[in-house]
Amino acid sequence: MPTLKPCPFGCPAEPRVVDLNKDVLVLCDDCGTTSFACNYGERKATDEGHYATAAVARSEAIELWNHRPAEERQANRVRELEQELAGLRAPT
Ligand SMILES: [Zn+2]
Repeated sequence: MPTLKPCPFGCPAEPRVVDLNKDVLVLCDDCGTTSFACNYGERKATDEGHYATAAVARSEAIELWNHRPAEERQANRVRELEQELAGLRAPT
């Protein structure tokens, strides 16, 4: 199972995966932030946000919780700038 990232709002509590009547989501108990709910069960698996099994819904909920596009863009930019800086510092 993939590791859960901490709450995006810096809460000290570890987020947890909860299953509320076949809606699986990740929840921060400190501030109440959740991932989108991923449903599984009787509906058609082709419905948006609906998955065939609890395991797939759980995996998707974790992926949604961990998806942080702004953080990923920032990390990529830092890597680019570090490479540029290393190039400036290299002896000529
Ligand atoms: Zn939180």
